[in-house]
Order: sequence, then structure tokens, then C-alpha cells
Amino acid sequence: MKKYKSLIFLVVILFVAACVPGTPSIPDPDPGKDPGLVEPIPDPEPEPEPEPDFDFALYKPNELGEIPIWMYHNIREPESIWVRTPDNFRADLQRFYDLGYRLVSLTDVITNNIDISAGTSPLVLTFDDGNANNFNLLKNGEETTVDPDCTVGIIMDFADSHPDMGTAATFFVQLPHPFSQSASWYTAEHRQWKLEKLQEWGMEIGNHTLGHKHLKKDIKSLDDLQEQLGKPQYLLEDLLPGYKLNSLALPFGGRPKAEWADYVHQGQFQGTTYQHDAILLVGSAPAKPFNHTNYSPLAMPRIRASNYPDGDAKDFLDKALARLENTRYISDGDPDIITVPESNLDKLNKDSLEKKTLRTYTLEESIGP
Ligand SMILES: [Zn+2]
Repeated sequence: MKKYKSLIFLVVILFVAACVPGTPSIPDPDPGKDPGLVEPIPDPEPEPEPEPDFDFALYKPNELGEIPIWMYHNIREPESIWVRTPDNFRADLQRFYDLGYRLVSLTDVITNNIDISAGTSPLVLTFDDGNANNFNLLKNGEETTVDPDCTVGIIMDFADSHPDMGTAATFFVQLPHPFSQSASWYTAEHRQWKLEKLQEWGMEIGNHTLGHKHLKKDIKSLDDLQEQLGKPQYLLEDLLPGYKLNSLALPFGGRPKAEWADYVHQGQFQGTTYQHDAILLVGSAPAKPFNHTNYSPLAMPRIRASNYPDGDAKDFLDKALARLENTRYISDGDPDIITVPESNLDKLNKDSLEKKTLRTYTLEESIGP
């Protein structure tokens, strides 16, 4: 603004000097007589620093890359097919972190709102069955604390020393008794405290059906199906009014017969509607992100977070991480911009961009020695 004013001042003087013939061009100011006549010209303001160019070569962003959604169950001793020990889970978090992964919520993935720093990769943690070892309380006299060896305790402790890791996770619980503990002192207030803390800490709960039924083998009628899927939301209205279970993890990965498929996505039970915007499978592959042509929120693959052998299959975790080194989503640090290497553009679903800005790039081939 100052600069603008002084420009006007200069223009006026030049105009007067040029257009009035016979008058002295600019009268000599006499500072003794009238010091206010000529304003001092202020120093020009420095130009704002230009935004530094995004360093594509440094970060190599690829926002059409794959996102691992890890499937855990129990966190306790000893390690087995569906059990990860506390120490192994801590080591997993450290390994993910060191590889550049950061925790994002499932909701962030399905709403295309991944907000992590440039060069890092999103990762989703999921825990099925709502076992007490996912969120366990300890009682010492009057004091109640979070068990440092339960899932929530380990995630919170890791985030204390690595704040940029975040604390997002989704727990596919069974309602109305998520993380139920058998201790005699454990009450409905403790359950309520857990549900409220989860929200406060950026963690989510998802649907895992009412009775952990196999939706293909165990369901006999459409009413039965809607009770299995809708009653958890109905029960939750009392525990967390307004909270929507926006995701479903299919027990055993089972789906009902084709004619009922739509009711897995949405339906109603006794006047309460339910809607699952993400339906999670039991699988072994990473998921495609929101803007990818093969993004499939109603059939999202998950990877077993374990190397424990299951028949001939094993090394799920190691194999997936190795694959992801070449395929993973790498953030540009700006949730409003979707950055994609030119070579990946054929995988972009242009209609999915909505208000996001697309940015593409190619890196020049480096010339080897
Ligand atoms: Zn389960």
C-alpha cells in the first residue's frame, strides 16, 4: 500500500512538471520554512518471497499409489495366526514409521482427505472383534489406567515419542459390549469412558455385525441380515448418540447372496438406518486410493498384519511391505492437490477429483556414471 501511495505522488509531480509551461519544474523545497511540503519517499517494501517450487525429485509424490489397510485381531501373548504380541506390534509401528508411513483414519481414506506431510505414506490400522486386549483398563486402588500392553496403550505411547505418527485406528467391535472386560470392578461407566476416549484420540469404531455371523452361511432371511447389520447402530444410539458406524468389516470376509448385496451397504433395523461407506474384506493386498480407477470402497482389501504361517501362506506383512516399496501412495503434503506422475495418469478417475486440483509431473532420467 505504501508503495502504491508513493507511486501516485511521483506521477502527480511528473504531471505538474510536464504540463505547466513556464513554471519551474519542481520548486526547491526549503526545509526550514515548510518541511511538510515534500513527503519523504518511503523505502519500497521488499517483494514477498516467491513460493519455493515443489521438489518433485525429492518427494516423488504418487497420490494414486496403494494404501495398506492392516488387519489385526488380538494383541497379547503368545503370537499365533490371529494374535500379535505387544512387542511385535510395537516393532510393527516402528517399522512402519521408519519406512515413512503415517497413520490416517479409514474415514480420511474414504472422504479423500489424506493430510500427511510431503514424502510420507498413509497407513490404516484396523482391529477386529473388539477384544479386551485392544483397549484394556488396569485398576490400582482408586486409580484406573490404560494397560500399556493393550493396543490403544501401545498406539498412544508410540505417538508420545513420535507425534507425527498420529493415533488413528479403527476398531471393529461388537455392540453393545466393545472391549468388554470380565473384572468385577468393570462397569458400564468404564465402557462409556473407553468409547469417548477413542473419539477424543482420533480413533474410530466400525461395525462387525451383531453376532459375528458369516453373512453367506449363517443368514436365513433379509430381516435377519438387517438385524445383524443394523442392530449395532441401533444399540449405539444410546451409547454414543449421533455416532455413525460408517464402516463394516465382514466377519470371515463372508457376503450374503447377491440379491441382498445392497443391504450390506445400507438398510434399516427397527427404524434406525445404517450405512456403511466402507466395507472391508479379509485379504492380502493393499487398497487403491480414492482417485484411482479401481478404488472400491464397498470391497476394500486388507492385509494380515502378521508373518505367522497359515497353512502354506506366510510372511503376509513382509511381502506386502516389499510390494508397497514400488506401489505405495506418497503424499505431496497438500490435501487439496492430487499429485500424480505422468506415467500413472491412466489410473486416474478424473470424475473423482471434484474440488481437488490435479498436478502431474515427470522426472528427467538421471544419467548414470
Ligand atoms: Zn471377526
